[in-house]
Amino acid sequence: MEKIKIGNGYDVHALAEGLPLWLGGVRIDSPVGCIAHSDGDVAIHALCDALLGCLALGDIGHHFPDTSDEWKGIDSKILLQKVVSMLTERGWKVGNVDVTIALQRPKLAPYIGRMRTCLAGILGVEEDCVSVKATTTERLGFVGRGEGCEVWATALIFN
Ligand code: MG
Repeated sequence: MEKIKIGNGYDVHALAEGLPLWLGGVRIDSPVGCIAHSDGDVAIHALCDALLGCLALGDIGHHFPDTSDEWKGIDSKILLQKVVSMLTERGWKVGNVDVTIALQRPKLAPYIGRMRTCLAGILGVEEDCVSVKATTTERLGFVGRGEGCEVWATALIFN
């Protein structure tokens, strides 16, 4: 009988002017970007934590510490590939994932399709197994004030 496991992930990064903004593996045209040790792709970070959470493997801070030069400025797509490898080495496959990005601006709608394509490629699933949703927070809180980007992710794996 097929077994399934689920996991959730959450991440926040502060935003600052003049930094590149990467979300879901896609470069976003934006005057602000995430402050980070890596490329700051907060959506991929939350997704990595959701996948790791499925097998209680800890979090990305544990596997890719921000105190290590090895991960400085790293493309988060590489981190996601490594996390997927950890699952496949243990005999698991990704079923589907669902990612919700909270960002006041810029609008992410034009980028959602490219994010799904990119993530599906790394996860080894069809695009209809990758949901990416974006919302503002109606100008409320630190997201609403444009100070940060917040992401929740859910993942299901099976073997
Ligand atoms: Mg992060």
